[in-house]
Amino acid sequence: MPSSAEALAGKLRIDDLEPQGRRVLLRADLNLPVQDGVVTDMTRVTAMLPTLRTLLAAGAAVVVMSHRGRPNGETPEEFSMAPVAEAMRLVLGHEVILLEDCIGDKVETAVQALVPGDVALLENLRCHPGETANDAEFACRLASLADLYVDDAFGAVHRAHASIIGVPPLVEVAAVGHLLELEVQMLSRCLDEPAKPFVLVAGGAKVSDKLDALANLMPLVDRLIIGGAMANTVLTYQGIDMGNSRIEEDAIELAAVLLECAELNGVEILLPYDFVVAADLGDAASARVVRQVPATTMVFDIGPESIERFASAIADAQTVLWNGPMGVFEIDELAGGTQGIGSAIADVAGRGGISIVGGGDTAAAVSAAGLSSSMTHVSTGGGATLDLLSGSVLPGIVALTDRCA
Ligand code: ADP
Ligand code: MG
Repeated sequence: MPSSAEALAGKLRIDDLEPQGRRVLLRADLNLPVQDGVVTDMTRVTAMLPTLRTLLAAGAAVVVMSHRGRPNGETPEEFSMAPVAEAMRLVLGHEVILLEDCIGDKVETAVQALVPGDVALLENLRCHPGETANDAEFACRLASLADLYVDDAFGAVHRAHASIIGVPPLVEVAAVGHLLELEVQMLSRCLDEPAKPFVLVAGGAKVSDKLDALANLMPLVDRLIIGGAMANTVLTYQGIDMGNSRIEEDAIELAAVLLECAELNGVEILLPYDFVVAADLGDAASARVVRQVPATTMVFDIGPESIERFASAIADAQTVLWNGPMGVFEIDELAGGTQGIGSAIADVAGRGGISIVGGGDTAAAVSAAGLSSSMTHVSTGGGATLDLLSGSVLPGIVALTDRCA
């Protein structure tokens, strides 16, 4: 089976299109965090700009579509794309026409009235159950809105949904957008002869979410650093008492699989030596550092000695891939491990190495620490990033038009 990078190389790219005077349906991932009706993180809007600008400069009328949240086939106002339209206007400095739905007669009429240089945004795709069901008629109605299709929705490219795999075969040409291409190329640097030493830093919530990706990477990796709640589960498997910590009980066996896979591949494994503990999350202000976890406490971060040892294991890396925070970085007192490891990883790119960050929460942590621009690449994907790293060919790429078709 080809890798996602090989599959992508066989597809038409946005630069192969002749979009002048044409209507282009642009699938983006604008599933943005919104608070009190305002978008709080513009990263994904900024990330799609190169594609949007390419299409506008070439004289296309662009119809952007995305999902937001999980409205489950209904149309509650809280899932409207209105805040996204506003964010796009701000970042793009250009009018964005928000349409009242994503399919239907009114939408078709409005889209037909667009002229080159116009940008329209469809309402939330997931307000129709046909999106997640990949319903043929829903895909057909979306496809009827445009002549050409561009996929720039890296964060959703692993989903077999109508706007991702249903629409491309129904338009004249369906091509790879700049962000999709960048993401696949950057993440593939971890899979395709990564520069050595290659250090994988894994953390976050669950072993079960990440085992496939970690196992696929083991033959390539020199060192595996494990932190976050994931480390609690692995250490529990090793017979270490983690007190009251959050453990993924049904993944203890998966932790065994991970360690075995690492050992078989001669990977050096680093686990935390000390911990930041508290009675519970509400008690973070009284968090303290321990080497042995008291029975009445929970581990919420790695301790300073772990930060130091992990940082020195990262110091000579030529490639670092980081997925999963080292602790509950959302709370200041518990963010030290994530920030410390984040700085060590940011230094890698400064020395000429490659640092790749994946995962929604890890990207948020890197952004909160002001380190995003110091990394070689911060992925906009969560599930898509893990699927690509686990060796899967992403279905949204397969659906696009072949280069020599
Ligand atoms: P990503 O989205 O980057 O893949 P995950 O979703 O796997 O990361 O994990 C992120 C979450 O894990 C964060 O909300 C963080 O608070 C939580 N977390 C990390 N370490 C711990 C811990 N020791 N105990 C509880 N939660 C933790
Ligand atoms: Mg997450």
